[in-house]
Amino acid sequence: MRLIVLSVLWSLWWVPAVASADSGDGCLDLYFIDVEGGAATLIVTPAGESVLIDSGYPDNQSRDLDRIMHVAKDLADLKRIDHAVVSHWHLDHFGNHAALAAKFGIGTFWDRGIPDELSEDPGYADRIASYRAASQNASRALQIGDTLPLTSGKTRLAVRVLTSGREVVTGEGEVNPFAERHKAQPDDPSDNSASLSLLYEFGKFRFLTCGDLTWNTEAKLVTPRNPVGLVDLFMVTHHGLPVSNNPAMVLAIDPVVAIMCNGPKKGGAAQTMATLREVKSLKNWFQLHRNVELEAAQQAPTEFIANSAQTEDCKGEWILAKVAADGASYHVQIGPQGKKHAYATRAR
Ligand SMILES: [Zn+2]
Repeated sequence: MRLIVLSVLWSLWWVPAVASADSGDGCLDLYFIDVEGGAATLIVTPAGESVLIDSGYPDNQSRDLDRIMHVAKDLADLKRIDHAVVSHWHLDHFGNHAALAAKFGIGTFWDRGIPDELSEDPGYADRIASYRAASQNASRALQIGDTLPLTSGKTRLAVRVLTSGREVVTGEGEVNPFAERHKAQPDDPSDNSASLSLLYEFGKFRFLTCGDLTWNTEAKLVTPRNPVGLVDLFMVTHHGLPVSNNPAMVLAIDPVVAIMCNGPKKGGAAQTMATLREVKSLKNWFQLHRNVELEAAQQAPTEFIANSAQTEDCKGEWILAKVAADGASYHVQIGPQGKKHAYATRAR
């Protein structure tokens, strides 16, 4: 009898450590980590599950790895990454997946499917070998229409794949009134055009992130009908480069807030900023970096720019979008001391 009691007590005490810590406030947290013109977005759900989309550049004395680990461990209080997504197979997007798996732990790897070769990257064979090894050859390919298996609490949380491997969700939504703004560019054979696009819904709040999806694939997604609908928060595509951010798409999704993961000299293009200025509902856009080659008047006001230094001197300040537990409002702030810019989720 005593043995049974002891073993029951032992089993109660010996609860395995939960994979991730809940922030406890019921909010959905989206961290846009500065990886100097790459991408790394960490999302922590009210249930404490974590999704990392992309992992910045490798090398640079583990600069991007350290920045991701800092946010994941010190701010989000995670014990590992539950879901690690690769939007597409470029260095600035899957540079640290293998290192993160080794140093921190990754639950499930998700990607667009692994191509046999990638003509634009001579180092691809080695890089993909480390990725395969880190994922123990068990990464899962996301197709259009797929969803990520995340737990909803009181507020419904859903993540749906809208583009993958140049396939796009079609035939849904309203006719796009900005369709005629698409002027075809030469087709993009690079892996950018094959990027995953993910639409997050948390209650009424909607967040769109499209990796480095390029112009003609953007148009393919949103014309003649727009299956994305209107969004609250938009991660500006492809670091704000002008081969992406087709106005036929950006104007149609009509974001209220945009966050651009640009570097001092990468992305954040004047043409993209001009398109953002045209967005009817846009209240603010944030930049991870000042574009050091543009005039101040061409970009976001200083208080919406996380980092103004060149890469050599950059402190790598992050941007956090925190969505309230009911999904009805959110705020965006730069760094731990940043002002909280508050927004209401749009009515639908
Ligand atoms: Zn990129």
